[in-house]
Amino acid sequence: MRILITAGPTREAIDPVRYLSNRSSGRMGFALATAAAEAGHEVVLIAGPTALTQNSAGVVRADVVTAQEMFEAVQEAIGTVDVAVMAAAVSDYRPREAVSQKIKKTADKLTLELVKTPDILGSAREKMGFSGVLVGFAAETENLESNARAKLAGKGCDMMIANDVSRPDIGFDVSENELLVLFADGKREELAKASKEELARTLVKWMEECAQAKV
Ligand code: C5P
Repeated sequence: MRILITAGPTREAIDPVRYLSNRSSGRMGFALATAAAEAGHEVVLIAGPTALTQNSAGVVRADVVTAQEMFEAVQEAIGTVDVAVMAAAVSDYRPREAVSQKIKKTADKLTLELVKTPDILGSAREKMGFSGVLVGFAAETENLESNARAKLAGKGCDMMIANDVSRPDIGFDVSENELLVLFADGKREELAKASKEELARTLVKWMEECAQAKV
């Protein structure tokens, strides 16, 4: 199969030296890329700014910075894949304008106006016409299962992988995760705390099963 994976954060410029971003390390997405390549799949990895390297044979990596750039890279590649996994922590908002000179600290108060970035996962079905296996992530600090279930249905996903990012021992920027996985057919699985690499191998197997069920 060909699998598209988004990973890492995005960065939205405020001025030439400052940006809005989040604590995503990209590790879950990169672990998925490795697991998918090791299972014999071709991977298109679209990565936001991260310090990680990816050397697996079978992974073609495209680096992007902003949510808009990630949207465009996904839009270009999604028609060529069987499975699309949106593991990136995309900034939901960006400064309305990135000023061209560094902002000086002259004013006592500074207001940043933010505008929404495109929802890449939410655009996969209708806007991009993707009919393959669609997998989303839900990083939540409360009501994990109900929020994840709403995203599964709302974004037309086959699989939604949820994790609690309020816990310091799992999730953002650490090596382990604990997951709740919801499927469009109503199935529900819990994966106990383990390394992101180990979890990724199980998730790739389930993606293969979803793909088989579609044909
Ligand atoms: O709605 P929320 O942002 O919490 O949904 C999370 C899922 O949506 C993740 O799979 C994430 O990669 C994806 N997403 C996206 N584009 C955005 C925001 C989130 O693809 N602008």
